[in-house]
Amino acid sequence: MPAKIIDGIAVSRDIRKDLKVRVAAMSERGIIPGLAVIIVGNDPVSAVYVRNKIRACAEVGIHSLRYDFAADVSPQAVLDLIAQLNDRGDVNGILVQLPLPPQFAISEILRTISADKDVDGFHLYNVGGLVVGNTVFPPCTPYGVLKMLEHENIVLEGQNVVVVGASNIVGKPMALMLMQRDATVCICHAKTRDLAQFTILADILVVAAGKPKLIVPQMVKTGAVVIDVGINRLSNGKLVGDVDFPGVAEKASFITPVPGGVGPMTVTMLLSNTVASAERANAKTLPQ
Ligand code: NAP
Repeated sequence: MPAKIIDGIAVSRDIRKDLKVRVAAMSERGIIPGLAVIIVGNDPVSAVYVRNKIRACAEVGIHSLRYDFAADVSPQAVLDLIAQLNDRGDVNGILVQLPLPPQFAISEILRTISADKDVDGFHLYNVGGLVVGNTVFPPCTPYGVLKMLEHENIVLEGQNVVVVGASNIVGKPMALMLMQRDATVCICHAKTRDLAQFTILADILVVAAGKPKLIVPQMVKTGAVVIDVGINRLSNGKLVGDVDFPGVAEKASFITPVPGGVGPMTVTMLLSNTVASAERANAKTLPQ
């Protein structure tokens, strides 16, 4: 039987509905959550991501502040802006759209964002929180994957999970979050020998490599849950994930599509982190 498709747009809609209610409760007390988005240069893909984030903020009632810099801006100008935003009471989240031009040391930028406003979850303090199991801001993409699994009531405890991809923004935090939920986790990467011998053991397979058709049906256990984080633009303009969707959907029990799977969830969890940040910042004035 073909897999059930986990619809990221529908799951997002449910979560955003709840976020709207929480934002409305704050606004009754005169509190409007604020997200500052900084973009450097004119990379068209980054521009689309930023536009989507700002549109999503408006949808749930988050006030967004957008700051555009030219590609040749001095990193100090951006660091100065971040320092100002750190001090502003009306800004609950600060996001610097990656990638940044080569003159930037990304680690310095991420370190400068206040850990209390680090809605992307990339500050070392929040990364450390993830390692010890009490993160304040879970990174948005793996957080979105977790919410999709929860939405489908997929049990994680004791399951064999294989994460393909070990980046700091997806693969590693994903693995940590799943370990925290008592799954048995294996992480694979580009130098893994014979990827299939690992993926075939997965009850839950999360793929975030950025390689179209990396995962074909022979690599997937019958009945596995397959989450495709990859986003790849083919030469014909088509957007695809890392998984051979038609073939794997015949074997899996659940599968996420691309587009319309993890992508919308990433933006939704950014909104969620921003709302949670505003609630925490105003905890004394909001009812518990
Ligand atoms: P990344 O930084 O390039 O990391 C890719 C990871 O995949 C690396 O760990 C790499 O291994 C591994 N890898 C590459 N080729 C592989 C192969 N043939 N076999 C096994 N592992 C392989 O990418 P990323 O930022 O994590 O993003 C991964 C994908 O997810 C991209 O397509 C990206 O566009 C997408 N993405 C989607 C969302 C969303 O919202 N849906 C969010 C973020 C990213 P090494 O470490 O050994 O190099």
